[in-house]
Amino acid sequence: MVDEKPQEDVLDCLVAGGGPAGLTAALYASRSGMTTLVLEGKTTVSQITVTDIIENYPGVPQAGGFEFHDRIRTQALGFGARASAEDVQSLKKTTLENGLEAWEVVTGDNSYRALSVIIASGARWRSLGVPGEEKFLGRGVSYCATCDGPFYRGRSVAVVGGGDTAIQEALFLTKFADKVTVIHRRERLRAAAILQERAFANPKIDFYWNGVIEGIEGDDFVKGVKVRNLGENGEITTLPLDGVFIFIGLDPQTEFVKGVVNLDDGGYIITDSSMRTSQRGIFAAGDCIAKSLRQVVTACGDGATAAHEASLHVDDLKGRSY
Ligand SMILES: Cc1cc2nc3c(=O)[nH]c(=O)nc-3n(C[C@H](O)[C@H](O)[C@H](O)COP(=O)(O)OP(=O)(O)OC[C@H]3O[C@@H](n4cnc5c(N)ncnc54)[C@H](O)[C@@H]3O)c2cc1C
Repeated sequence: MVDEKPQEDVLDCLVAGGGPAGLTAALYASRSGMTTLVLEGKTTVSQITVTDIIENYPGVPQAGGFEFHDRIRTQALGFGARASAEDVQSLKKTTLENGLEAWEVVTGDNSYRALSVIIASGARWRSLGVPGEEKFLGRGVSYCATCDGPFYRGRSVAVVGGGDTAIQEALFLTKFADKVTVIHRRERLRAAAILQERAFANPKIDFYWNGVIEGIEGDDFVKGVKVRNLGENGEITTLPLDGVFIFIGLDPQTEFVKGVVNLDDGGYIITDSSMRTSQRGIFAAGDCIAKSLRQVVTACGDGATAAHEASLHVDDLKGRSY
């Protein structure tokens, strides 16, 4: 039996993640009148804040990543959303004193109760962990060809990796770069046969087999990479180039929802087109969900949809849906 009394200490919507997906969700949720808290993460940051320049968000010809992030955040807080730098550690179903179904969200610092939860915790590109990689991030080192490819018109770049993503992105980069060298630690690719055929047939792509990058060098921008040959001679050569695109895997930040919502084999949250997960009241958005394009524009779209659906869910719980 549901009691009509509102529970003051219970949020309508809790958003886990303060990137474009989470902040857009918070913007839509708070603007629709829901009490909204965004937990922005304490030990991680949004990928967009480490992005030098964005030039593929419609209506925004060019913006710094940090500035772009800050503008969405200010807009969300302007509609009444609150924000706190905390990492969500776990969440579990609970029943409120008034009988409503809710979720209890535990962070390292606090515990919150919310009628709806939106997971927008993003994903992290795997890094090589070699000298120069961090230093030249955004200045020749990239983890995203869609984002940074157009900056390399007429240049020479390397792609690191041998899977589907690496080869797809190498092919994409040939639209801009004059030369794309695929550096792979084995002597054959893992990518799908059709991608391999296209890559082998493309005159702009060449291959460095059995190679591992030992370091990335340059001054203000990348000028070359040091590659060690894993074959018999083990020699180290320096390849002169202008950019290095690293595609050795992506890890969704979804550890804390394992066993709570359904994930795919890669650990991404499975949603339907309304951003609903396998659990009633939990929605997900952005790079942490199973989908084909991980970009700011898709993250924002997912966030808006998730907040809209969360608001319908909360209305439904409170008996106000129409
Ligand atoms: C170098 C680089 C350049 C890029 N350039 C472009 C570009 O030009 N254009 C473009 O469209 N896209 C670009 N992208 C991709 C874009 O940044 C992402 O697609 C976008 O940021 C995804 O948004 P998101 O909100 O899903 O995740 P993120 O932006 O990654 O945000 C995730 C948020 O969740 C938080 N978080 C993580 N775990 C927890 C937890 N347990 N509890 C609470 N919070 C948590 C993090 O701290 C962060 O605030 C680029 C990415 C990189 C790395």
